[in-house]
Amino acid sequence: MTVRVRFAPSPTGMFHVGGARSALQNWIYAKQQGGVFVLRIEDTDAARNKPEWTEGILSALDWIGISRGSYEGPYFQSANAGEHRAAAARLNESGRAYYCDCTREDVQARTGSQYQGYDGYHRDRGLGPGPGHALRFRTPDEGTTVVVDLIRGEPTFENKLIEDFVIARGDGSPVFLLANVVDDMTMGITHVIRAEEHLPNTPKQQLLWEALGAKPPIWAHVPVVVNEKRQKLSKRRDKVALEAYRDEGYLAGAMRNYLMLLGWAPSGDREIVPWSVIEDEFRLDEVNLSSAFFDEKKLRAFNGEYIRALPVAEFIDACQPWLTGTGTIAPPPWQPEEFDADAFAAVAPLAQTRIAVLSEIVPNVDFLFLASPLIDEAAWTKTMKDGSAALLDDAVAAFEALESWDAESLKSTLEAVGAERGLKLGKTQAPVRVAVTGRTVGLPLFESLEVLGRERTLTRMRAARLRLV
Ligand code: GLU
Repeated sequence: MTVRVRFAPSPTGMFHVGGARSALQNWIYAKQQGGVFVLRIEDTDAARNKPEWTEGILSALDWIGISRGSYEGPYFQSANAGEHRAAAARLNESGRAYYCDCTREDVQARTGSQYQGYDGYHRDRGLGPGPGHALRFRTPDEGTTVVVDLIRGEPTFENKLIEDFVIARGDGSPVFLLANVVDDMTMGITHVIRAEEHLPNTPKQQLLWEALGAKPPIWAHVPVVVNEKRQKLSKRRDKVALEAYRDEGYLAGAMRNYLMLLGWAPSGDREIVPWSVIEDEFRLDEVNLSSAFFDEKKLRAFNGEYIRALPVAEFIDACQPWLTGTGTIAPPPWQPEEFDADAFAAVAPLAQTRIAVLSEIVPNVDFLFLASPLIDEAAWTKTMKDGSAALLDDAVAAFEALESWDAESLKSTLEAVGAERGLKLGKTQAPVRVAVTGRTVGLPLFESLEVLGRERTLTRMRAARLRLV
């Protein structure tokens, strides 16, 4: 039997990191089993779907390595509407479903208590189809439904506690529970790997599989992804969109490595491992039961390591979208004609060891391309003290006298200027850094000055000196 798994996102918002994690788990499982990965876009909620969300899913999957053309699909759930309706009709004809026109209030009026699920009122009343008549599945009164779950063992549900749930609404449209099952059935899905939040749906869905005369799939419910307060990641509260991480400059390799650690870990004490190791070692049945903390700080640290591991040429290439501003990435503060690729290449190795996400390249190098630096006023006020004007005067004079404009000479020259005042290099270089780059932190100063060049460095130092008058 060929293993067939599917990833079935609903295109109702930005693509969620939790979804990306499930997609990768499905992807690897299919690969390990010599199986097929199917992508199905569950687009039946017409009011909430937008085509751009579908495009976002496809491009985000592509970015993390599930590339277009290398899987089956995308299929669109809406295209199977006829099959969903036919299945609802079949269940009705076979007596496994019945019509009901009760509102919630009706049920509550009958049961008196708080609404605790449908009371089965129309089970045997023979109501026919009609506007406003929903179709409900007749769940068995006895017995249990045992879900075979690769991660959770065999969660067992008492059938009598499962209400007669709706499978088609009053307007005849089938609901998610049914459409999802019918699609899995027609697509020959053997393993359903999805988020834990769907576990309560599973006994109902398994009953539908059986009632439709098919063998249910093997299930695997992977733990939910939570924030630092152990709350389920939410798109309203947390940064959940994979695209947001991509645009901030997370590398796809770091991202997918990190996502796979949500609920699982490779052997040994390792976390950062080549993708091939994850593909070999990942075991679905080793995935944890407890919720997985999406730790953005840790992801940042991961990403920094991935950035440092890049060959410099690749790092330079990887920075290009932030240096030029492409697609959804904002343009940098300099004009395209101000950019100097040679100057960038000269400082790139220095930046590579310092940034954790690629977008941070911009504030680190903008001083090189802007006619005058973007002065951070708070940094200026904090740094420029009483003696700064005189110090800058002396530094300008000493730099003017330099024969060779190189990092080493610049450093020893400024060190000497500081020593005359009894200042350590750190204190001496701070006003120079703010004058030239506008900031208190950045790339190593003397290498920066070497690349910026004599004329521009001195002009900026003189301009800063004038501001201090
Ligand atoms: N469209 C559903 C979701 O995004 C799919 C659930 C499933 O994987 O079965 O939650």
